[in-house]
Amino acid sequence: AKWVYSFGGGSAEGKSDMKNLLGGKGANLAEMANLGMPVPPGFTITTEVCTYYYANGRQYPPELRDQVEAALLRVGEITGRGFNNVENPLLVSVRSGARASMPGMMDTVLNLGLNDVTVEALAKSSGDRRFAFDSYRRFITMYSNVVLGIDHDVFEEILEEYKHAKGYVQDTDLNAADWEEIVARYKTRVGEELKAPFPQDPYDQLWGAIGAVFGSWMNQRAITYRRLHSIPESWGTAVNVQAMVFGNMGETSATGVAFTRNPSTGENKLYGEFLINAQGEDVVAGIRTPQEITEEARIAGGSDKPSMETVMPEVFNQFAIVAQTLEHHYRDMQDMEFTVERGKLWMLQTRTGKRTAKAALRIAVEMAESGMISKDEAVLRIDAASLDQLLHPTIDPKAPRTVLATGLPASPGAAAGEIVFNSDEAEALKGQGKRVILVRVETSPEDIHGMHAAEGILTTRGGMTSHAAVVARGMGKPCVSGAGAIRVDYAAGTMTAGGKVLKKGDFITLDGGTGQVLLGLAPMIEPELSGEFATLMAWADARRALKVRTNAETPADARTARAFGAEGIGLCRTEHMFFNEQRILAVREMILADDEAGRRAALAKLLPMQRDDFVELFEIMKGLPVTIRLLDPPLHEFLPHGADEIAEVAKEIGADPQKLDARANQLKEFNPMLGFRGCRLAVVYPEIAEMQARAIFEAAVIAGKKTGQPVVPEVMVPLVSTKAELDFVKSHIIEMAKLVEQETGTKLDYHIGTMIELPRAALRAGDIAASAEFFSFGTNDLTQTTFGISRDDAALFLDSYTAKNIFPGDPFVSIDQDGVGELIQIAAERGRKTRPDIKLGICGEHGGDPASVVFCAKTGLNYVSCSPFRVPIARLAAAQAAI
Ligand code: PEP
Ligand code: MG
Repeated sequence: AKWVYSFGGGSAEGKSDMKNLLGGKGANLAEMANLGMPVPPGFTITTEVCTYYYANGRQYPPELRDQVEAALLRVGEITGRGFNNVENPLLVSVRSGARASMPGMMDTVLNLGLNDVTVEALAKSSGDRRFAFDSYRRFITMYSNVVLGIDHDVFEEILEEYKHAKGYVQDTDLNAADWEEIVARYKTRVGEELKAPFPQDPYDQLWGAIGAVFGSWMNQRAITYRRLHSIPESWGTAVNVQAMVFGNMGETSATGVAFTRNPSTGENKLYGEFLINAQGEDVVAGIRTPQEITEEARIAGGSDKPSMETVMPEVFNQFAIVAQTLEHHYRDMQDMEFTVERGKLWMLQTRTGKRTAKAALRIAVEMAESGMISKDEAVLRIDAASLDQLLHPTIDPKAPRTVLATGLPASPGAAAGEIVFNSDEAEALKGQGKRVILVRVETSPEDIHGMHAAEGILTTRGGMTSHAAVVARGMGKPCVSGAGAIRVDYAAGTMTAGGKVLKKGDFITLDGGTGQVLLGLAPMIEPELSGEFATLMAWADARRALKVRTNAETPADARTARAFGAEGIGLCRTEHMFFNEQRILAVREMILADDEAGRRAALAKLLPMQRDDFVELFEIMKGLPVTIRLLDPPLHEFLPHGADEIAEVAKEIGADPQKLDARANQLKEFNPMLGFRGCRLAVVYPEIAEMQARAIFEAAVIAGKKTGQPVVPEVMVPLVSTKAELDFVKSHIIEMAKLVEQETGTKLDYHIGTMIELPRAALRAGDIAASAEFFSFGTNDLTQTTFGISRDDAALFLDSYTAKNIFPGDPFVSIDQDGVGELIQIAAERGRKTRPDIKLGICGEHGGDPASVVFCAKTGLNYVSCSPFRVPIARLAAAQAAI
């Protein structure tokens, strides 16, 4: 079997599509060699050797030794050097290289091949004795640490002691003789530690280093990294052995890293840094301030250190051409490492460069416009979820962070301000022009004004579909929910986190994208929507079949969603329309009424408010479908809390507070999310559904007249589990439609459908479809009821589930395709069988999650509906599913 692949000298045995076998680094080195680029010759020991090694009790395949030695000879021939050659010694680097990049996780050895004899040869051939012994001591340190397991500090101590004795301050103060002495001391120390001398035979050194790199695949760091990034252990790592080139051979030598385009803005200009007279490690270590590559960047950055373009113009020109060639070849922005040894350029690595969302967009669009890639490829290259970064302010990635606690990333974007613990105060402070963060244990409808006033919302309880999360996402406000490590004490006006006690008025920053809560005001970067955004979204829209609607109740949200390209409203949660102080009073009155007359009195107050809202929504969504859901209030969100609120309602309706309190207590539920909700309300009190139907139909007539275009409302019944439930509510809606037709003399066109959010409804979708013209999957409740995990309490334990790999992720964020997904597939199939033209959509929070959107497209749904700020994400994900 072939275990070793050579590269260099104008050709290679591997190529770039062999990443599984050669690892990312090895495959790209081979590719660069094939392109005739200046790559130091070397060879790659394949990932299959790693697999073999672990499958066979850390033994190598028998043919490996011969293959490595043959490859090494070839390197020697190309370089005119030889391993252990006393005139022209070959020195190599030994590096890991897995399929997926695992930066800094595994081991590297440089300058291998040096010993007491070859160091003299290096001194002679380089004409620089100091350089030779400096390299040797670096090698001893690295090798002893990586291969022999001797702590780095041992060598640091010897060096520090020596410098102290000599009165030296910096390493540059040491001359050749000093380094020679250091090398001697290092070797003595290794001898003491190992009871054996430092290995002098380059072949022993090589096999030691190869073993260490394969061994580092199973070190704790690498294991943890793989778990965090879902990299399978079975992939293994390759080992790259490559002739050393030196960037530290004086003023005509250098080392650097560069990107073919700017990775933070996407601007099509070579961008990078380099250091004269340095080794690669020095750039990464950040000890010296690097210099710019191009003169333009130097001027822009105001640096007084000359650029590579002026210091070594010829090498710069050659490098610029190489960079261009690589980008054209790979058809993507490249991240490159290079070394200049005495005026000669060497390429050490190239790979696809990481970039910000903004840069990704610009690069994809410009590459498609220049014909380098197709429009489809451009669309596929953007991570849909990353669009969040473009639509909201984000925390400056360069700013230091003091993390107080981490909760759920409930609504993206960053927000900073002073802490307030109640909504009235939030509103008052906002009125004084202050920026506040509303901190609550959890939020309820009477916090809506506070949430509006706040820059961001932090709760210590509640999951990704809790009240705070859903409402904040709708408003496009940053929110961190369920930060259980924070304790809030309303009475004392404090929150305690990470051992710190913060008071009202102290400053915090929320990162809704990561769930972090930070101390103080972090610097922000404001979003800006570029022309490239519109261009890419237009390309995406041309490709997708899946429609994207929005979940919106307020005119403001509806307008935002339209601006983001929503094609209608897929869910208008009517209970959310009562989230303001006056309206909630009427809702409470309705809920607490103990007879029909009382309820009708309250409903009469609600009717005009609802009707006016609907008119506005119909006007904003002119010509587009609007789905209005009948009331579905989890009672605990609407019942009055405490004596004050009871008294307020009592006063409003002239009732006895005590009686009202008793009624409220009677309505308290143990599991409100599974309680007197959804269509159950309409079954018990049909007059509620009737009022809402009247408001919808009257609004349709009014809006139709205003816009000159007939409005066709979609009326949706929530939380249905049987056809009989739907039929009962439906009959009341139809009655009301007839009544409104009579009263207005206008013929109405409308559709009645249902939500599928209970497993029984999904299973019985065949009969339910006989009565429903459309289904909208309420995947928040469907997830809750399929798993039997309460939406509001999930945050307490879901973390442990994902940390222990029992769940791949939070099923309230990305749809559980196997379980919940199967119910959706069953319902879609059975629904269509009964009613082939049934319209199918999804309106749970999953409607804005890219993976879930792709699932919906594959399942053949007609649309997804999501909160306004996620509309672009859904549009892009839908297009990606179609390509
Ligand atoms: C759902 O359950 O997925 C849904 C959209 O309804 P709500 O979140 O209002 O319960
Ligand atoms: Mg629901």
